[in-house]
Amino acid sequence: MAELKRTQIKAVLASDETGTEVLVKGWVRTKRESKNVAFIALNDGSVIHNLQVVADPQALGEETMRLITTGSCLAVRGTLSESQGAGQKVELLASDIEVYGTADPEKYPLQPKKHSLEFLREIAHLRVRTNTFGAVYRLRHALIFAVHNFFNERGFYNVHTPIITGSDAEGAGETFRVTTLPFDNPPRTDEGGIDYKKDFFEKEANLTVSGQLEGELAALALSNIYTFGPTFRAENSNTSRHLAEFWMIEPEMAFYDLQDNMDLAEDFLKYLIRYALDNCADDLLFLDKRAADEDKLKAANERSEMGLMERLQFVLENEFERLPYTEAIEILRNSKPNKKKKFNYVIEGWGADLQSEHERYLVEKHFKKPVILFNYPKEIKAFYMRQNDDNKTVAAMDILFPGIGEIVGGSQREERLDKLTERMEAMHIPAEEMWWYLDTRRFGTAPHSGFGLGFERLVQFVSGMGNIRDVIPFPRTPGNAEF
Ligand code: ATP
Ligand code: MN
Repeated sequence: MAELKRTQIKAVLASDETGTEVLVKGWVRTKRESKNVAFIALNDGSVIHNLQVVADPQALGEETMRLITTGSCLAVRGTLSESQGAGQKVELLASDIEVYGTADPEKYPLQPKKHSLEFLREIAHLRVRTNTFGAVYRLRHALIFAVHNFFNERGFYNVHTPIITGSDAEGAGETFRVTTLPFDNPPRTDEGGIDYKKDFFEKEANLTVSGQLEGELAALALSNIYTFGPTFRAENSNTSRHLAEFWMIEPEMAFYDLQDNMDLAEDFLKYLIRYALDNCADDLLFLDKRAADEDKLKAANERSEMGLMERLQFVLENEFERLPYTEAIEILRNSKPNKKKKFNYVIEGWGADLQSEHERYLVEKHFKKPVILFNYPKEIKAFYMRQNDDNKTVAAMDILFPGIGEIVGGSQREERLDKLTERMEAMHIPAEEMWWYLDTRRFGTAPHSGFGLGFERLVQFVSGMGNIRDVIPFPRTPGNAEF
């Protein structure tokens, strides 16, 4: 196939230049064939829609036609023509087809029928060839792009924080150890413990659970920064919202207080949702219909009150509810499920840590919109959060979303050295190991704030996919690291 350059199917479908010759390449979704004509639906991933290829079996030959089956990969040269069929403007009248790769129908696991998401997880190496996962991958890309756009437009600098860290001080979750020591016979100290001085980094090292602490260092020089990197937590929580490896976006801003922080987070989430609506219409329409179909299979009381597109619009159009933790506890304590002991964890009173069932009650039943909870008890939050004057609460904020629960966790940071070290001592966090973090409070400290957005939880919300394993190409969860 000399000379002619390949055109993406997205461009072909948008074109109205019938009569021109084009070359397309992609994978066969379906083929319908009669004696005189074959219809091949070809997809190259550039867009959710397939290009209809119309071929003459007799002209192309029996041998070639036999090799064209669902999953096979083709190069097709032909003439663009106005489509006779419904649902598409143009189709391609094939003059020449080269088969790059066959896909034995007896063995190819993706047949043109509905496969369950559970089954598709077992073939995660191929599932991107389905409409659902094609849409999710493209949406993910658009949202990544939008994250960088949002911050770049506002003068934030992207900072790469380390993936391997030497401090486990943050205590955000269980960490994965990074080591080159032999398991069977590690070097020992005189006391019999493992001698990490002989390890690669000459100290204990882990995969990062958050880039925040290093992000703070950068913010106290560049003012506004954000990180967007892989994050690892060895928590053994087999839920539809937890991964062992996920991506987190963590902006950190000098001179922002908690209110500024909440404003930024709300703007950010709305920007991302609007970006998806403006740029991923085809994929979102597909996912919207998909979610509606899934919903029909559910019991009446478990169905969503809104469709996916409606839900996205709704979040855009409404201000998030901002509610102090203390008021949230009152609402929860007096709620029906609490009084009837329907919650797994009954809320007894102030100080309780909120479980996802409580968060979802507030968002889905009580306020029916996103909620920003703030000023949490200091006992249930991290050491670096700024202490409020009441001596009981810290300037923390979590954003809770319908169907997801916590999507953002953030705070104003404790910038006062004495308060910070006091808190670290109370929480048994070794100050010596954190000398570099504390130096920012010793030299030119400043009020500052930041938050973390779990990228996959965002993609879950925007795509309407129920399980976080279906919004990352190759999910890592307890017991799963295939592919
Ligand atoms: P959760 O209570 O849901 O486990 P967390 O309190 O541990 O969340 P943070 O430590 O505040 O969460 O992390 C910031 C954000 O990262 C969360 O709001 C969430 O969006 C995301 N996140 C946290 N843990 C995970 C995980 N295991 N998988 C995917 N995303 C996560
Ligand atoms: Mn967690």
